[in-house]
Formats: sequence, C-alpha cells, structure tokens
Amino acid sequence: MKIARIDTIRLDIPFDDGGTGLGMTPSAWNQLDMVLVRIKTDTGLVGWGEAFSYFCAGAVKSMLDDTIIPMLIGKDATDPQAISMLLQQKLVLFGRYGITIFALSGIDIALWDLKAKAAGKPLAELIGGMRRGSVPAYASLVRYGDPKIAARFTAQALAEGYDYIKLHEVTREAIGACNDARGKAELMVDVNCNWPEPEAQDMAAWLGSIGTLWLEEPTFPPEDYAQMGRLSDKVPISAGENLCTAWQFEALIASGGVKYPQPSVTKVGGISEMLKIMKAADAADHAHLMPHSPYFGPGYLATLQIAAALLDEPLFEYLYIWPEAWLYTETPKPVAGRVAIPQGVGLGFEPDPEMIAKYRVG
Ligand SMILES: [Mg+2]
Repeated sequence: MKIARIDTIRLDIPFDDGGTGLGMTPSAWNQLDMVLVRIKTDTGLVGWGEAFSYFCAGAVKSMLDDTIIPMLIGKDATDPQAISMLLQQKLVLFGRYGITIFALSGIDIALWDLKAKAAGKPLAELIGGMRRGSVPAYASLVRYGDPKIAARFTAQALAEGYDYIKLHEVTREAIGACNDARGKAELMVDVNCNWPEPEAQDMAAWLGSIGTLWLEEPTFPPEDYAQMGRLSDKVPISAGENLCTAWQFEALIASGGVKYPQPSVTKVGGISEMLKIMKAADAADHAHLMPHSPYFGPGYLATLQIAAALLDEPLFEYLYIWPEAWLYTETPKPVAGRVAIPQGVGLGFEPDPEMIAKYRVG
C-alpha cells in the first residue's frame, strides 16, 4: 500500500463563544481554522488528518504543499512511524517545533487513520486497545475577561452536567467568581503562561487552598520545567500543549514537577509521537496524561481514540464554544459530562463533503 496522492484542505468554521473573542489569541478568535490532510493510497483507501492551524493555517498549508508532500508520494503508507522519522530527519533544519511539526502531525494522523482502516479496526485497537466506551469531558471555557460572564458560563456548564470545568481566566476576581459558581464540579485553571513566577507562587497557593484540580501553564516560558516544579507543592501542575515531540515530553516527565502532561495530537507530531509519550508516562508513577484537544476535526476524533487507549482514564477537553457547523455529522458531543468513543474503523467517521464544500477557503 503506497501513498498515491495527498491533498490539503483549508477550512474556516465560524463559532460563537458567548463573549467578545478577545481573550488569549493574537486578535479576536471567532473561527476554527483547520488544515485537513487527505491521503489516498494506490489501493484506493483514504485517510484523514488535521494539522494545528489556529491563526497559522496559511503557513501550515504551505509547509505541507511545498515541502512535505513532494517527499511522500510513492512512499509505503503502512508504517507511519517510519514516515515520521523520515520527515523529522529531513526537516531538522527547519525546526521540529511549531509550523513544521503541526504539518507533520496532520500527515501522521492521516497515516494512522489509513493503517486502522486497512486493519478494519478503530484506531484505539492499534495503539493500546479499546479500554473504555466513553470518557469524562471537561468544559474548557474560553477567556471572557469578565468575571460575570465567566461565572455565568461556569454555572451553565455545571447545569449541563459537567463534573469538571476549566477556566482560562487570569485574575483572582474572575477565578473567584467562577469558584463561587462551580457547585460540586472540579475546577481547573489555565493561564497560558501568563504569570511571572512571584505572582504564580501567590496564585498557586490560593488555588491550592480552594482545591483546584490543576493549574495549567502558569509561567513563561513553557519549556522552563524547573520553574513549574517550584509551584507543584502548592497545587498540581499541568503543561505540555506547547511542547512538541516525545523528546520534550520525556524531559518534562523526568523533571518530576508536572503531574498532568498535556500532549496535543495535532501539535506534538501526531499519533507516532503520542505513542512514545504514552510509554514515558506509563513508566512514571507521578505522570497522568491529559491530552489537549480544543479541536473539532480529525484532531477531536484522534484524541478520543487516544483517550480510549490510555491505561489511566483521562479527561477529554471540550472547548466550550458553539461552532456554526460540524465537519462530522455524527460528532459525539458531551452528554451529562461524558463523550462516547466512536467505534467505527480508523478515526471512527468520515468528514461531511457538504461541510467541506461550504467552509473551504481558497
Ligand atoms: Mg491550555
């Protein structure tokens, strides 16, 4: 089975988040940018992947179209890990982080979708087993920057049956308002590397005192594992969505200060790198993987397959927004705080061609 053709498809799907969209991104965030990777084999099978593309879809698509895809036509499609190593070695001059590895992640997910389809099995069966039929989800609220709006959506998520709610607020006022509204739900706080260490120390102590389940990416830069370790006696720390390849995760896990490593399948290098990270986490008693997944395309489905295969049950990150349309008609959404794992072959579902035609860019 050889790679006959690879297409990249750029989509923009508008969404509403109930706020202003002006929280944590370079400019207002109100659409889901996706670069889909579609690989067709000489046997006629088709696999789908997604490369991380929020605010960088043009660059990711160019890396795929101009640099990566020409290397892959005619290559053996049955060994995604070999393709991953080939690409990482050939692309070493351009950095195995950022745009390059986002693009590579899209290829890798599509190859694993193909491999599972060729075997006639859900992807989970190839990467550890279908260990569970559903996973608990957490409502991952955007940063509203307004305590009242944040508290209102915290209460709404609680009423919808979520047992876990994650905030992206950075002020004590906003986090406190949500803490008052969370009822019996567990609270997580993600500040996207926002705090200098002295502020992080104060906030970590307070968050620990109110029983926060984890504090995510408290400080800058995200590669400073020792800095995060200095906070970890106050509140459990999570981090990793901005790390790429298993190399960085092995170092993060070895540092000992991060309880919840958070590899992101569309950023880290796809399933092939994820498998190495799963192994590293299994070997370390203190590390419990919590895959990062604010996605709505193949990255969403791939994360559910990973969540099914992990030894320890993870929480599934569900970005608490309302997309205008769904790429997969059958997308399993959280119901009473749980998401069902698709049981179909590969990633589980095929994208809806009408949605692709409607939201395609260029
Ligand atoms: Mg995060």
